[in-house]
Amino acid sequence: MPQHKHIIDELLDNIDTIRPALLNQKEQDNGMRSLLRRMVSLLESLQNTPSVDPHLYQHITHMFALLLDAEHGTLLKHLYLDEQNKEALNMLGAHIKTRKILIDAAQQDLPSALTMIRRGFDLLGKPHPSSDDLSVNFKQFTKHLQAYLQGNSKVRLEFNLLTSALKQSVQAMDHVLNEVGSHSPELKEVQSVLEQDLPSDPEQAQALLRNARNNILKAGDKLNHASQQVKVTMTAQVAQMDKLAKRLHEAEAQARNDPLTGLGNRRKLREFFNALRKDTSTSFLMIDIDHFKYINDQYGHDAGDLVLKRLGSLLKVAVRSTDMAARLGGEEFCIVLPETNRTQASNLAEKIRHDIETETFRTQHGNIDVKVSIGVAERLDEEPIAQWLKRADTALYQAKGNGRNQVVNAE
Ligand code: GH3
Ligand code: MG
Ligand code: MG
Repeated sequence: MPQHKHIIDELLDNIDTIRPALLNQKEQDNGMRSLLRRMVSLLESLQNTPSVDPHLYQHITHMFALLLDAEHGTLLKHLYLDEQNKEALNMLGAHIKTRKILIDAAQQDLPSALTMIRRGFDLLGKPHPSSDDLSVNFKQFTKHLQAYLQGNSKVRLEFNLLTSALKQSVQAMDHVLNEVGSHSPELKEVQSVLEQDLPSDPEQAQALLRNARNNILKAGDKLNHASQQVKVTMTAQVAQMDKLAKRLHEAEAQARNDPLTGLGNRRKLREFFNALRKDTSTSFLMIDIDHFKYINDQYGHDAGDLVLKRLGSLLKVAVRSTDMAARLGGEEFCIVLPETNRTQASNLAEKIRHDIETETFRTQHGNIDVKVSIGVAERLDEEPIAQWLKRADTALYQAKGNGRNQVVNAE
C-alpha cells in the first residue's frame, strides 16, 4: 500500500512536535492516558501478528513508540510541577526542561494532533468523525485499527504461511533439543497451538499467538544454551581424544615387545646391546624361517602367524633369562647370548634348528613342516655392533645358499 506509506511518512514528520500536546490537555489527561494504554496493547497485538504489511507495521510501531514517549513526557511534567522528590528532580532536571519546552510549544499546536489522527483515518480508509474532540477521534481511530488488524484477509493468508513455516522450524528446534538431551515443554505448547485452528475470537487468538511467540523465544534461548553446551562438551571431548591419541602414540613408541610373539622388539634389542659388557665373549644368532612365503601361500596368513607364535615360544624356552630373544620383523628372529663363545652358540643354534625341524606345527589346515636357517657370529674385540650383526647375516645368507635348514658360523 504505497499511498499509505506516503501518508504515514507525513504523519511521522509531524508527530514529534505535536506528541506532547496529545497528553497535555489537563481535563483529558486520564482518558488520554488510558486510551494510550489501549493503543499500546494494540501495538503488542500487532507485534504478535507479524504478518502485517511490513511498512505499515514499522510505521505504526514507530508512531506508538512516540505516543508512549509523550505519555512519559507528561508524567515527567507532573513530577516537575509537584516539586516532590527533589533528588530525582535534580537528576532529571535537564531532561525535563527540554521536555517542558517541547510540551509548551506543542500545547499551542493541538489542531495538528487532530490532523495527525485524521491522517490515521485516511490510512485505514475510514471517514473522519464529525467531532473535533481529540479524545473522540482517538477512540474511534483505536477501534478502526483494531478492526483492521483482525479483519484483514491478507493478514490471515500471511499468517497461515507463517504458521506452516513456524511448524517446521519448531519441529527442527524440538529435534535438535531432543538430540542434545534437553527438553522444551514450551515447544510442545507451541506445536499444539500451531496444530489447532486459531480461535475465532480475536482477543483469544492474539493471546495464543503472544504466548506462542514467547515460548518460541524461550525455546530459542534453550537451543542457544544447549548448542553452546554441546560445543563446550565437544571441545572437551576433542581435547581428550587428542590426549588419548598422544598417549597411545607414546605407549606404542615405548612398547618393547612384539605383540604377536611376545618376544622383544628392535627397541628392546637396541637397549640390550647398549647394556652389553664388552669384556666377555658374546654371540649372536640370526634366524630366518625357510620358505615362509610358501607356508603363507599354502596354509594361509593365519597359519603363518600361528607358526611365528609357536616359533617364538620355542625360542623363549631355548634361551636363558640373561639372553635376549627378539623378533626383528617378518619371519626373522635373533638371539643375543652374553657369556657365550662361538662354539657354545653354534651348538645352541643347532639345537634350536633341530627342535624346530622335529616340532609338529599343528594348524586347522594340517601339520606344517617348519625349518629355519641360522647364522652365528661371536663378537670380535671392540667390534662395532653393526659389523657384528652383518657377519651373522652373511652367515645366514650362506646357510640359505647352501640349501637351508642349517647353521653356518661366521668367519
Ligand atoms: P627364504 O627361505 O629365502 O627365507 O624365503 P621366505 O619365503 O621365508 O622369505 P621371503 O622374504 O620371500 O618371504 C617372507 C614372507 O613372510 C613374506 C611375508 O608376506 C611373510 N610375512 C612377513 N611378516 C609376516 C607376519 O607377521 N605374518 C605372516 N603370516 N607372514 C608374514
Ligand atoms: Mg625366510
Ligand atoms: Mg626373511
